[in-house]
Amino acid sequence: MIPDYRNLSEICTLCGECAEVCPFFRVTGNLKYGAMAKVEASQRLFRGEPLNDEDLKTIFLCTRCDQCHKSCPMNIPISVIVQGARSELRRLKKVPEKYDKIAEAIIRFGSPMAAPPEKRLAYIPDGFSPPKKARYLYVPGCWSGIRLPETARASVELLRHSGVDFTVLGDKEWCCGLFLIDTGLLDEARKLAEKNTVLFESTGAETVVTECPSCHDVFKNVYPELFREPRYNVIHISEMLRDLIKEGRLKVKKSERKIAYKDPCPLVRRNGIEEAPREVISIVAELVEYRENGYDALCCGAPAGVKPIYPEIANRLAEMLIEEPAKRGADIGVGCVFCMYHMSGAAKPPAPKIETLSQIVLQNLA
Ligand code: SF4
Ligand code: SF4
Repeated sequence: MIPDYRNLSEICTLCGECAEVCPFFRVTGNLKYGAMAKVEASQRLFRGEPLNDEDLKTIFLCTRCDQCHKSCPMNIPISVIVQGARSELRRLKKVPEKYDKIAEAIIRFGSPMAAPPEKRLAYIPDGFSPPKKARYLYVPGCWSGIRLPETARASVELLRHSGVDFTVLGDKEWCCGLFLIDTGLLDEARKLAEKNTVLFESTGAETVVTECPSCHDVFKNVYPELFREPRYNVIHISEMLRDLIKEGRLKVKKSERKIAYKDPCPLVRRNGIEEAPREVISIVAELVEYRENGYDALCCGAPAGVKPIYPEIANRLAEMLIEEPAKRGADIGVGCVFCMYHMSGAAKPPAPKIETLSQIVLQNLA
């Protein structure tokens, strides 16, 4: 169901509680980029008033990380208002050209990077022929499956090692459509919800295991709203690894490494998954916590179209997330390959190693 964005924005009393909460206020020190400024600009937009360049910038400078939600005494879902504002700006033909290109790549070619389907085969290890039907379906998502295939390969290797009955979609996989959702293209996202739900069900899987925390959130929480409840449940790879280790199907040893866990926003704030990734890291290394962790974790600064148009601001957040573990002599374990891609690009040597949980576990098999 498409929310009534205007009425939602009018609930806001501009009380100021969320003004300084946003990571983009944090890195710029400019209240114009805080959460309240985004809601205030959206109110004017929905009322049909003109917006200036700074208003547009603050609406596009939002990763929809949801860090602001807890601060609102009226329980206003600020990121939903931003979604609606972007949808309205698209109607007014005021979204950045890059947004149109990314959306078109997803709709026509099935990934934000418009990769040919065979690129999605690179992560499948030699000797593994995915069966047509299986109990589990592993879905790496675009950033893991296409851009950093070694991360998806690590998960596939672990699933094979554990003897789990699983399959993958390979070149049949299609983007979850998160960018369409983040930028208010809900009708297009609905088509993907139907396409992907039916495709996943065709494998007969009881459980879909995602590498990407955004795919996890989209499949689990957004698709049922856009299309219908699926005939499978959805879990994140961190939950699968935790269970396989606890059941003794993956035998691992503990290393001397210190690893800081970077919580992905959708995993922790929309789905409350905090413990599983921490349990996995604690079993194979010494877990280090960021000062701000769990629900209060800092966003990496890249998602929802921020990195393509404001890369320098996005990089400043990534640098903060790299500096803290570096000072404490820790490497970084991520629950999100898009965080990994973004943070690795912003890292200046000597920087901590940045790896997924599966890559870390794979190195510590007993
Ligand atoms: S969702 Fe995140 S980026 Fe967007 S306004 Fe809220 S805190 Fe800022
Ligand atoms: S905390 Fe809620 S009511 Fe207050 S300014 Fe932010 S969105 Fe508006």
